[in-house]
Amino acid sequence: MKLIPLICPQCNRPLQPESDHISTVCEQCRQIYHLDQHGLKPLVVQFASTGQTQAKAWWPYWVFQGTVTITKRETQGGGNKSAQESEQLWREPRRLYVPAWELPLNRIQEIGGQLIQQQPSLQAIEQPDHFTLHPAVIATADARKMLEFIILAIEARRPDYLKDLAFTVQINEGQLWALPG
Ligand SMILES: [Zn+2]
Repeated sequence: MKLIPLICPQCNRPLQPESDHISTVCEQCRQIYHLDQHGLKPLVVQFASTGQTQAKAWWPYWVFQGTVTITKRETQGGGNKSAQESEQLWREPRRLYVPAWELPLNRIQEIGGQLIQQQPSLQAIEQPDHFTLHPAVIATADARKMLEFIILAIEARRPDYLKDLAFTVQINEGQLWALPG
């Protein structure tokens, strides 16, 4: 691994990300950067509207727009209500959320699954002057893999005893959003 002096290219203030962080915010000029083995790049983060209140802390999520197509869904029973709900959920393209901060997989599945099912309105606002953005640790390529675990968990949690599931996912390149929390 190459050691790169982490200095904000915009204002020269030292940046202090931890080694697993893929995002960092300059404390002085508030520029957000993406970090990887190639170094620093400005990172475009969409801040989501909170409604009325001013959020203090923001959480990073990868948000993909896309279509999930279930090609095989075998269950052990439980009637066909779950099958209908599954069909309805994936009928239309939707926003697919993957929490990007450090979390155990089961929490990623829970939080991502809820947002994918609820589809809350998502409206971009300008980057606030003052904000705390929790660092992202999941890169976009990993988020794509994580998304499959989230979809699997949504289907496995239906009460009809999932036995086998096959699906395809078609998504855009995704964008990092900051959601208030
Ligand atoms: Zn700076």
